[in-house]
Amino acid sequence: MKLNVKNIRYLGSDDWRVLTATEQGSRNHEVVPTPLIAQLASIRSGSGVNKCISNLAKINLIAKVKNAKYDGYRLTYGGLDYLALHSHTKASTIFSVGNQIGVGKESDIFVCAAETGRQLVLKIHRLGRISFRTVKANRDYLRNRSSASWMYMSRLAALKEFEFMKALRNEGFPVPEPIAQNRHTVVMALIDAFPMRQISNVGDPASLYAELLSLIVRLAQYGLIHGDFNEFNILVEEREDKETGDVALIPTIIDFPQMVSIDHANAEYYFDRDVACIKRFFSRRFGFTSDEPGPFFKDSIKTLTKRLDVEVEASGFSRKMAKELAAYMKEHGVDGDAGEVERDDEDEDEEDDEHDEEEPQEADEVSTQPDDEAPSQKQPISGQPAATPA
Ligand code: ADP
Ligand code: MG
Repeated sequence: MKLNVKNIRYLGSDDWRVLTATEQGSRNHEVVPTPLIAQLASIRSGSGVNKCISNLAKINLIAKVKNAKYDGYRLTYGGLDYLALHSHTKASTIFSVGNQIGVGKESDIFVCAAETGRQLVLKIHRLGRISFRTVKANRDYLRNRSSASWMYMSRLAALKEFEFMKALRNEGFPVPEPIAQNRHTVVMALIDAFPMRQISNVGDPASLYAELLSLIVRLAQYGLIHGDFNEFNILVEEREDKETGDVALIPTIIDFPQMVSIDHANAEYYFDRDVACIKRFFSRRFGFTSDEPGPFFKDSIKTLTKRLDVEVEASGFSRKMAKELAAYMKEHGVDGDAGEVERDDEDEDEEDDEHDEEEPQEADEVSTQPDDEAPSQKQPISGQPAATPA
């Protein structure tokens, strides 16, 4: 889904209040009645509220829903995106948003920058998004779709990812530095590397292979299984030793919403699947197979170093949240990129087309404006319009 930040700097403080009010109202209303929006926004003049509402609807941040009982609005993905970006901007985490670099089934990834110019990644979780292929099978779900549930579940996915990244980073695992989390978004350091999927040959597959498998084992020794340990979620940087000229391959692991504990009922299955993903990829891509069997789950957890699964549970991401998210992901067939791995290399772009289908429309919803052109490079999102407007 596009993230059109162009309008963000034209929103006034009353617009933000009305947008925030719609978000608040969504917690217990599928469709937030207009009078409730006005009440929550506590803007004096009624006409002021209506003006803001029509502004926001025009740029698709809220959408009008005609209900049997009453008319009202719901927050859209775009509206939630704006609220999260606004918070990141106010906290001085993000200054500008640039190009989209990734489209997953359940997320959109953008390059962004801090005020210092440091390059960051904004990951927007979109758990309610249904891929085109499964839309038909999900017709009933679409009809009963609760907007509160996609918002809440996407927020849980972001929170889970952020908490695990922090914990892993603290233990020295090669993961991007987590910077901030707000609503359904995570901000992290940009890794200047390509997914392993894009690497066609490596000088020495054996050492990268060994390193990746030992990471799977080490994760288990910290109580965790990645659950989606594949060539899309491993970024590999080629770093040249200036003196020797040797090129070292440095992996960074990303994408954690599906991480499971070693206590999970199917822990061994997920562990084996992670191992099998690496083996299959190295064999197909680099023609490399190892003579050594394993690693095996039971051996890996014989000596535990630490229980990050338990530690994270005690932090911001509770056991109850973990259960809710896992149940939702299971029900909606959210299974990371694992399903993609079997595909041939040719259909790489196919995914992109499907994702214009997101933001399932209510049958009687009044849609407003067509999508504008894609955002141009690096649009500042804070303060006044840029000196050289895009
Ligand atoms: P998804 O859950 O949609 O698979 P990922 O977290 O795996 O989301 O990110 C999707 C893609 O975005 C990755 O394959 C990678 O190309 C890119 N990406 C994600 N995070 C980063 C990062 N921190 N640095 C560089 N590229 C990233
Ligand atoms: Mg991924």
